Amino acid sequence: MEDNVKKLNFLEEIIEDDLKSGKVESVLTRFPPEPNGYLHLGHAKSLCINFGLAQKYGGKTNLRYDDTNPAKEDTEYVDAIKEDIKWLGFQWEKELYASDYFDQLYEWAEQMILNGQAYVDDQTQEEISKGRGTVDAPGVNSPWRDRTPQENLKLFREMKAGKYAEGEKVLRAKIDMAHPNMMFRDPLLYRIKYASHHRTGDKWCIYPMYDFTHGQCDSIEHITHSICTLEFDVHRPLYDWFIQTLGIYPSHQYEFARLNLTYTLMSKRKLLELVQKGLVAGWDDPRMPTLCGVRRRGYTAEALKMFCEKIGVSKRDQLMDIQLLEWCVRQDLNARARRYMVVQDPIKVKITNWPEGLVEWFDCPLNPAEPEGACRKVPFTGELYIERADFMEDAPHKFFRLKPDGEVRLKYTYIIKCEKVIKDADGNVTELECTYDPSTKPGAGEWRSVKGTIHWVSTSFGKEIELRNYDRLFTLADMSQVPEDKDYKDYLNPESLVVASAWAEPALLEDDSNIAVQFERTGYYIKDKDSTKEKTIFNKTVSLKDSYKPE
Ligand code: ATP
Ligand code: MG
Repeated sequence: MEDNVKKLNFLEEIIEDDLKSGKVESVLTRFPPEPNGYLHLGHAKSLCINFGLAQKYGGKTNLRYDDTNPAKEDTEYVDAIKEDIKWLGFQWEKELYASDYFDQLYEWAEQMILNGQAYVDDQTQEEISKGRGTVDAPGVNSPWRDRTPQENLKLFREMKAGKYAEGEKVLRAKIDMAHPNMMFRDPLLYRIKYASHHRTGDKWCIYPMYDFTHGQCDSIEHITHSICTLEFDVHRPLYDWFIQTLGIYPSHQYEFARLNLTYTLMSKRKLLELVQKGLVAGWDDPRMPTLCGVRRRGYTAEALKMFCEKIGVSKRDQLMDIQLLEWCVRQDLNARARRYMVVQDPIKVKITNWPEGLVEWFDCPLNPAEPEGACRKVPFTGELYIERADFMEDAPHKFFRLKPDGEVRLKYTYIIKCEKVIKDADGNVTELECTYDPSTKPGAGEWRSVKGTIHWVSTSFGKEIELRNYDRLFTLADMSQVPEDKDYKDYLNPESLVVASAWAEPALLEDDSNIAVQFERTGYYIKDKDSTKEKTIFNKTVSLKDSYKPE
């Protein structure tokens, strides 16, 4: 380990100790999504930790769906989750479901009943939570707590057989109603729920609670390190208690801080609400923090992994700057994305000394970093579009783009000079008459340089495309700080999507790189699935530049 210059994180330390002491032979982690929504950026962090640790130590990772709540779960989510994990580049060892273990869990429940460790309670949900007491005051025993094992067994079997209505009875562990840890005040083990389960159908009408499920599932699979987010640390003693009580394989739970990002919400419940209320165009709306959303936005799996690597694993909750994620996306795309020229807000340029009808094709590099120097062909003609913002009539001294009587280089091609500004009746600039200097063709003799270089598109060869310019979905940096009298939806950014049309060089429409491309001097964009034969649509992934620098 001497050559391991990077400091180990606390999970790596635990795993290395466990391997060294022989406590575990090999590492087996699991990723346990509840199939009640799509995976989001927070899950990406959990995936990188669970799969990353297993990979690092030659171990494996199971994908286990935590599907104990039939009312909210769906196979649509099951399939989407698998797709997202594969997209991130992770391969699970086994695909498993908590529901695979319903028979075993039920058997353990009967065993606990027979051992006097569980009882059927007839109290209402309200009575139960009232009876639990508070942190400062002990709870009170349920009047049904002292039923005999035989009576409990009979009632539990009747619950399973569908004899009772939802909420009429529950099964509870019999531990200690005065326990200082509220979790131990006779926690619920089973509840009645008449809902079709996405895998077990109508076989069950009782379903195990999270605490009675998770640890046992880990144990059945011999998970060595069950890694979850910090809010589960209060559940850990109970996790251990069930494993000890049942005398089964001792899996252990470890907690890390969940990922929170500025301007972002990651609760599946709220994301579902945005989808259901039509406030976004679906789970894969490019503004959503879901993995399918950011994928459609043009974020790459490589960028997400780079981000997760950078934020590391910590034991303290923190709010990460979304700009770091955007920085990672830029880093990755800068190295790989192909370049094209696109003009968004055009102003027409006429080259008055250009030979009538001439088209000159320039070989322009697809990516300056590519060693092979693959090129696209870009047509230059006597009439072009440039960005309105690249021209200024009353330009300050330091404005190095186009101005009256000024010169600028049209990227990859000639230097042009602005000779005349043409305006409409309202004084808006409609056209610029320019001349080009044939001697400034790159590679043709001596190089003359000017300070500014701007992008351009031939008007006759340019293709009109639609841009969906995306911005942050929310306007509040820390979405956990929404005031009491407000709703998170009050902070939706009304300008999170601005649709525009633009002119693109023709090669863009032939691009088959399947990742985002760079619109030179503006930003990264990716072709959207809503594109049709008539209209090609590009989603803005991220702007080209930002003053942000990671620490
Ligand atoms: P949400 O609160 O968004 O609904 P969840 O925790 O209910 O998420 P699960 O499907 O239960 O979602 O999560 C699967 C795994 O991903 C769990 O181990 C959970 O701890 C982890 N996870 C969920 N959200 C985050 C997050 N923001 N950062 C890191 N890990 C997360
Ligand atoms: Mg959950």
